[in-house]
Amino acid sequence: MSKKIQAIRGMNDLLPADSKIWNFLDSTINNLLLSYGYNYCRTPNVESTETFSRAIGEVTDIVEKEMYTWKDNNGDSLTLRPEGTAGVVRMMIEHNLPREGIQKVFYNGPMFRHERPQKGRYRQFHQVGAEVFGASDAKIDAELISITDSLWKSLKINAQLEINSLGSSESRKSYRKILTNYFNENKNKLDDDSLRRLSSNPLRILDSKNKDLESLISKAPKMIDYLDDESLNHFNALKKHLECLDIPYTVNSNLVRGLDYYNKTVFEWVSNELGSQGTICGGGRYDGLVEKMGGNPTPAIGFAMGLERIALLIQDKSNELITDRPHLYFVSVGENAHFESMKTSRKILQNIPNITITNDISIGTLKSQMKKANKSGADFALILGEEELSKNVISFKPLKGQGVQQSIELEGIIQHLQEIL
Ligand code: ATP
Ligand code: MG
Repeated sequence: MSKKIQAIRGMNDLLPADSKIWNFLDSTINNLLLSYGYNYCRTPNVESTETFSRAIGEVTDIVEKEMYTWKDNNGDSLTLRPEGTAGVVRMMIEHNLPREGIQKVFYNGPMFRHERPQKGRYRQFHQVGAEVFGASDAKIDAELISITDSLWKSLKINAQLEINSLGSSESRKSYRKILTNYFNENKNKLDDDSLRRLSSNPLRILDSKNKDLESLISKAPKMIDYLDDESLNHFNALKKHLECLDIPYTVNSNLVRGLDYYNKTVFEWVSNELGSQGTICGGGRYDGLVEKMGGNPTPAIGFAMGLERIALLIQDKSNELITDRPHLYFVSVGENAHFESMKTSRKILQNIPNITITNDISIGTLKSQMKKANKSGADFALILGEEELSKNVISFKPLKGQGVQQSIELEGIIQHLQEIL
């Protein structure tokens, strides 16, 4: 026997038995975003490396160590997308979309990061993200947060909202100096990672997960105290909207997010049921990014949520959340009945949406087909044998104790199903 081939570590199969939750998540999120007027878009999984290095920033975990990058045959540097925003911004600019007015879009697809795989952290994972271009008012920041809040409610997920403001790039520059001074004075307490960040990206030290730095970080000067007036007003307006929408939040002054492109609002939704992989959604405003990527200045904001982590949170509640489609098992015995069963099930499916019909393909005896019908988890069996055919009827048998078997006119089966399903 040849050696078995295995999938790559951190890149998982979605097995058919587990796909129900994912289909449900996809359709719930799609419907929610469509209902708020967001349009679906799709960008390629592969982009020029520069799309990400320029957007995300050279001194970030993603660009420094997490990207899958290689040289194409012609020497171009290509990268598997580690996140969705950079590609969407590239798309917006390439197709001149913000010129047509405010753009509200969402995407759903795989992302790739070379990280250490563990529960809730994979090398191929899936995100849904929404982005808005051309709107600067805090009202849109609140709308995005409100959409995610509604999603957690509909999924019965308990998550806490943390918000912060990173101010304008000017106010962040002066804050950066103050913060650098503070950490320089305490240089002996910093770990290697933070020492490296001290000169390249000192705000990221606030994001450190090292417990030994907790007290040093908690005493650090806070961005929120150095905000420019415009950012402060914007942040206050966001808070007002959240209060009006009854969405509780905490201001986390250490929330800086892992990507360079944010300004003003940043936010995260955190669940305490996932250990250190607790962030299920993160987002923020990136007013400078479109220009930095070569477009006209365009205010923008977005979020991305990790579907694996959300799936983990709802896996025990799937029965409570998901209503199964009605499932019929079509049993047919004899050649004529086989033909008729195909014809009838096609007619039913053309007339009744959102049901499942399993047409028996084992061509066994009535008894063996009925056994399969019972095992399949179907709600009802449709039975067609010589006797039924000769009378132009079909036997309709509840399989889960919902009443007794009935004989229905073949012609009337669609109407019967419409009445009871
Ligand atoms: P973390 O701090 O957990 O590494 P992040 O800040 O790198 O997250 P973002 O880039 O903001 O994450 O991505 C948004 C969301 O995507 C995260 O909140 C998380 O739910 C999900 N996510 C990020 N990286 C992974 C991964 N490697 N595997 C699974 N989900 C992920
Ligand atoms: Mg990360």
